[in-house]
Amino acid sequence: MIDNSNFPNTYFFKNKLLSLNAVESHVVYGERLYHFSQKEYREWNVMRSKLGAGIKKGIENFGIKRDSLCLYLGAASGTTVSHVSDILDQGFVFAVEFSAQPFSKLLNEAKLRSNVIPILSDANKTENYLEIVPQVDIVFQDISQKNQVFIFIENMKRYMKKEGYGYLSLKCKSIDVTRRNKEILDESEELLKDNGFTVIKSISLAPFEKDHYLTIVQFKDSPNKVEVSSSSQSSSSYNNRERRSFDNKSNFVKRDFSSGSYNNRNNNSNRERSYSNNKDNANKDSSDRDISRRQRDNNSSRDFQRSTQRSNSDRNSNFSSGDNRNRSRNNDSNKRSNNRNNSGEKNSSFEAFKNSKKRSN
Ligand code: SAM
Repeated sequence: MIDNSNFPNTYFFKNKLLSLNAVESHVVYGERLYHFSQKEYREWNVMRSKLGAGIKKGIENFGIKRDSLCLYLGAASGTTVSHVSDILDQGFVFAVEFSAQPFSKLLNEAKLRSNVIPILSDANKTENYLEIVPQVDIVFQDISQKNQVFIFIENMKRYMKKEGYGYLSLKCKSIDVTRRNKEILDESEELLKDNGFTVIKSISLAPFEKDHYLTIVQFKDSPNKVEVSSSSQSSSSYNNRERRSFDNKSNFVKRDFSSGSYNNRNNNSNRERSYSNNKDNANKDSSDRDISRRQRDNNSSRDFQRSTQRSNSDRNSNFSSGDNRNRSRNNDSNKRSNNRNNSGEKNSSFEAFKNSKKRSN
């Protein structure tokens, strides 16, 4: 067995990717268990996980450490989240999923994994989990929606530390089934850049995932600035002429992103307008219908969160205290910089929560 020094707690054995099993004898999705030197490892099926596929393809690790805090968007039933939980054996993964069926499996998984915090929510509504999610080191997203890049940008602006990294699993065909993957990638990268991010790298996930790229970004003004060589970036041949045609063709709208400052309320109303105008977006329409049901279900998620954190008497003061309330009151441009500048403050609250959670386990 070879230790994969790139990502903590991951290994290669006979060409298979493994992670050190944090829950002994427990299998999450039918994966095979391996035993070496009295330790247990789970096979990480790279055909079922975008992060697994990226690691198998040799992507470098940007910022994923054992004690990282990760916001994972599109958690489904927890296949990849469970491996992220193995990696972050001293950290936490905040796992957002909006569909009740996979979420119930995720909930069961989280009962066994003390570092998984399941959140039943629409990732478009970033304000829904403001009270639960602190500033994080990593935002990972695997959501196959037309507005997936928009969701990613909103969540990074709100939740990612200034020095953090974002990982986007880009499903091109969900954005536009009629266009070439490379075109969609170029436009998505351009949108990320227009919104204050540096694209460190994009890799295709073929042959493990068709029509998918894994794109890694950081804030342009990140203190951990990664030198991006032109060869490591996917080349973007985007120009103004193409941009105009993109704006005209796609309702994956540029106007939602164009203001540099973060304005959630305006963005939401723009988005709702663009959705209701969008006949193609049947997926989102049906998901909107489901949201009110999910909001009801959200209570059960909260109950779970309460029960996992019940022993933490400081929890409410840690998460819903002035820090968050001030954020809602701030004007929009302040809001974004406050979120990022206050990460130290939020982290110290989070440290208190983390320690008490460790004590209670
Ligand atoms: N990442 C998962 C894994 O590797 O185990 C698979 C994720 S699956 C491709 C995409 C998931 O995103 C689905 O479970 C879907 O319900 C969820 N999803 C789609 N739109 C969402 C949204 N707006 N908010 C939260 N979850 C969403």
